[in-house]
This record gives sequence, structure tokens and C-alpha cells, in this order.
Amino acid sequence: MSDVGTAPIRPGSADPVDAPLVELRAVTRTYGSGRTAVHALRGVDLSLDGARLVVVRGRSGSGKTTLLNIVGGLDLATSGTARVAGRDLATLRERERVLLRRETIGFIFQSFGLIPFLSAAENVGVPLRIAAADAREREERVRVALDLVGLAGHAAHRPAELSGGQQQRVAIARALVQRPRLLVADEPTGHLDAETALTVMRQLREIVDSQGLTALVATHDAQLVGLADTVLYVRDGQLSSEPPRT
Ligand code: ADP
Ligand code: MG
Repeated sequence: MSDVGTAPIRPGSADPVDAPLVELRAVTRTYGSGRTAVHALRGVDLSLDGARLVVVRGRSGSGKTTLLNIVGGLDLATSGTARVAGRDLATLRERERVLLRRETIGFIFQSFGLIPFLSAAENVGVPLRIAAADAREREERVRVALDLVGLAGHAAHRPAELSGGQQQRVAIARALVQRPRLLVADEPTGHLDAETALTVMRQLREIVDSQGLTALVATHDAQLVGLADTVLYVRDGQLSSEPPRT
């Protein structure tokens, strides 16, 4: 019997080529222990792959940041398994985890995280400097990334000379400069007004489609949900595809 047209299945293997980009199985994350323990995630299963914009909703304290930090390899699950590109994050050495993050994942944060005394282009180029890319390649990739977010004309501007929305777009360009397969964005529009927030989310939507990457975006902004392919809800550390009944 043959399975024509499907990828070969190797039971028990973690082949990075065949594996989904993100795979969480029964993930828990507990902060502290004993009577004061906080169960931030309680048995989360999640599989993500392909060009998709996945929005994670949930009220403050529900576990969104904890989930994103585990998916992004910034934090480790207390139990369960978390794989990115087929690699079990818990079994990687710190150095390997850093490399996986660098090569596969781009991060976007609520507070932009730009370096104030660097220009937009220099900020976008920071991950490439860390990765020791050569100057010519760095320049080209920075140009492409700034172009993707519509800021080619602002390359020389410092963060203070840009609006909040423009600063977040610089941060998006920085997240894209290594051509990641996965974008992890924690409340990327949390510091923006509603109109600017929508512009930034539309930009993310376009990038997902044009770059074919997976974006996992935490927000509690209901207006942004219409742009998502998938909406997930976190409630008390549990993930669901059904909106909570309130
Ligand atoms: P959200 O991003 O949805 O607001 P978080 O993932 O930040 O939620 O937090 C989930 C729960 O875990 C909350 O109860 C929060 O107080 C707790 N928590 C988060 N980080 C820590 C930490 N470093 N130490 C202790 N508790 C934490
Ligand atoms: Mg949070």
C-alpha cells in the first residue's frame, strides 16, 4: 500500500522537514510552587503551520504572554512538549535554542524595543549584526525589510522622529530581517490608537500572505480579530477555539 502524494511518515521521528512549524502537546507552565503556585498554562495543545495569521485573545492574566514565550523559546514548559520546526525546545542546549530562535522566529513586542540612538535602518540591522552577516548582505536585507513595511523613505530616521505606528513598523521590519518562518507578536498594537492599530495589523496580514509565514499574535483588541485566519481564546491557562461564554 502506498500513500501517493503525502510526505513520508516516520513514527516517533522529529524530522524538521515534515514536522509542523509549531507543535505543543499538553503544555503546562506553573510559576512558583506549593500553595502560591500560579498555573499560567494548563494543558495546551496547539499545531501551527503555513501562511496563517493566528490571533490569541484573552483577558489580562489569562496566559497569552506565557503561551507566546513558550512558542518562541523564550521560556520552557513545566510539563508537556513544545516543538518548533520539529525541535523539542526542552532538549536543546541554550546555544541551540538561541540559534533556532535567531533563524526561525521573529519577535514583536508591545513596547517596540527600538534602540533610540540608532536610525531605523540600523535598528532593523541589529539582528544581522548579532548573526555577523556581512555588510553588503546586511544592507540589502535591511532595505528589503524596510520596503516591506513601507518605510524605505525613513531609513535614516531615529525612533523619536517617527510616529508610534511607524516605530512598530520598524520593529516589524527588524523581526522580518532574518526571514523567519514564525512571527511571534505580543500585544503589538497595545500602545497604539485604534486607527494606527488597524494599520499595523493590516500590515501584518499582508506580510503573512506575501512572505508565507505563520504569525501568532496575542491581543485583547476585538477589532483586529476580523483580519485573522484563526482565532484562539485563552482562559485561565486553557486554549480553546470557542469564544468564552460570559
Ligand atoms: P497575559 O499575557 O494573558 O496577560 P500572562 O501569561 O502574562 O497573561 O500571565 C498568566 C498568569 O501567570 C497570570 O496570573 C500572571 O500573574 C502569572 N505570571 C506571569 N508571569 C509570571 C512570573 N514570572 N511569575 C509569577 N507569575 C507569573
Ligand atoms: Mg501579556
